[in-house]
Amino acid sequence: MSSQRKVRVRFAPSPTGGLHLGGVRTALFNYLYARHHGGEFILRIEDTDQTRFVPGAEEYINECLNWCGLTPDESPNNPGGFGPYRQSERKTSYRQYAEQLVNDGFAYYAFDTAEELEEHRKEEPNFRYSHENRLKLRNSLSLAKEDTKKLLADGHPHTIRIKMPADDTVAFDDMIRGRVAFETGLVDDKVLLKADGMPTYHLAVVVDDMAMEISHVFRGEEWLPSAPVHILLWERLGWKEKMPQWAHLPLILKPDGNGKLSKRDGDRLGFPVYAMNWTDAKTGVETKGFREMGFLSEAFINMLAVLGWNDGTEQEIFNIEELVSKFSVDRIGKAGAKFDFEKAKWFNHEWIKKTDNSEILPQIEEILNQQGVSSQSLDYVSGVLALVKERMIFIKDFWEQASFFFTVPESYDVEAVKPKWNENKTTFFKNIASEFRTMEEWIASDLELFFKGKIAESGMKIGELMMPFRIMLVGGKFGPDVFEIAEVLGKDEVCVRIESALPYFTQ
Ligand code: GLU
Repeated sequence: MSSQRKVRVRFAPSPTGGLHLGGVRTALFNYLYARHHGGEFILRIEDTDQTRFVPGAEEYINECLNWCGLTPDESPNNPGGFGPYRQSERKTSYRQYAEQLVNDGFAYYAFDTAEELEEHRKEEPNFRYSHENRLKLRNSLSLAKEDTKKLLADGHPHTIRIKMPADDTVAFDDMIRGRVAFETGLVDDKVLLKADGMPTYHLAVVVDDMAMEISHVFRGEEWLPSAPVHILLWERLGWKEKMPQWAHLPLILKPDGNGKLSKRDGDRLGFPVYAMNWTDAKTGVETKGFREMGFLSEAFINMLAVLGWNDGTEQEIFNIEELVSKFSVDRIGKAGAKFDFEKAKWFNHEWIKKTDNSEILPQIEEILNQQGVSSQSLDYVSGVLALVKERMIFIKDFWEQASFFFTVPESYDVEAVKPKWNENKTTFFKNIASEFRTMEEWIASDLELFFKGKIAESGMKIGELMMPFRIMLVGGKFGPDVFEIAEVLGKDEVCVRIESALPYFTQ
């Protein structure tokens, strides 16, 4: 294959439901490869299986790519010169290729009805339509030429199946796995064209990859067993020179490493597996997604990128530009990558810390609105955010971490400090409130020096007074540095809080 070939890759989901994180990773790796090589990233909707079509699923895919920032260069909504980009709209192009394969002796008409096939399956649980039994079944290989002709002329329902060689090997170089070889005799005669005239995935994927001039196929490892069928089709349709290079991505595994991560594992273990919330229209059941759980798209993408890929260093945090420039297929692992939800949360935490306040503020404003907090200046909210960011795993954690900046504590966790309370401590806080009022500068470091100096003068211990001070401002024993809290709250508010909390310590 010529190295000059223009890079054109495609993400080819079937619109059958929510998008699994493995699907998004496939889209991401396609995108990274295209961007890294200055090529094109294409979205093709593979909707030939009408029985599995789910309304709303295509819109969901678009929204998901949009949220992740993986904008296709060509797609159903933004067609380029290779459309249509929905397989159901390309219907008419497929039959001729199936017929061509029949004429060339590489495929055949099969007249077995669904009921007959069902019967065979009942009799023989491992029944496969293959070179071993095809001459005993009802098809153009087993029937006399005239019988076949007649059945076709009568419009008898039929499929077209590939004729897999009984004894051959299909070998190819996978960009990730290296040399891979399959015995053709072990692969069944897949249906290429269904009785309703629609192509199956196997035929459509090859015809479309050819027509759309796809140069590289990045797809999940679950498609590896189909590769020999696809490669034979490329060869037998006479397109070998144009065949894309293959890259089968390692699976994303359950946290314990035992098998592929499924939606059910997420339900069972309490974490999302879909990119965004998905509601099943039939059952009304909603499956949670990473977006709604509070993941930043940057964190989600970063986490997916390193599930099966690394840049050869210890670096784990990457933004999309870095991913584009560093992405290389050589560094995609062959082994499955275990999904670790705690690690996913760590990525989100890191990204919240890293992201500019201005980008998060709209979401924080929303939380404040929901909590009925009105009219706080953006500077104030931003100051609070800067302080509590360190403690947030999700954006929604903001309220839990920061509510005391917006509402006066309703209760004070004084149980542990009360037994050791005394008149000296009351006096200390009364004095400190009035002394604070006279301070001109209101900066955390000055406050700390001043506060600690006063403790030293009083002869009491730092530990005895620091925790009560925190409780007065916060209501509990948590939160960031108490002097930083005091700085953000402002002088008046701090003094008012000390004075109104004191009775709870003395009663
Ligand atoms: N339509 C297939 C899917 O749903 C695409 C597989 C491929 O990329 O060849 O994953």
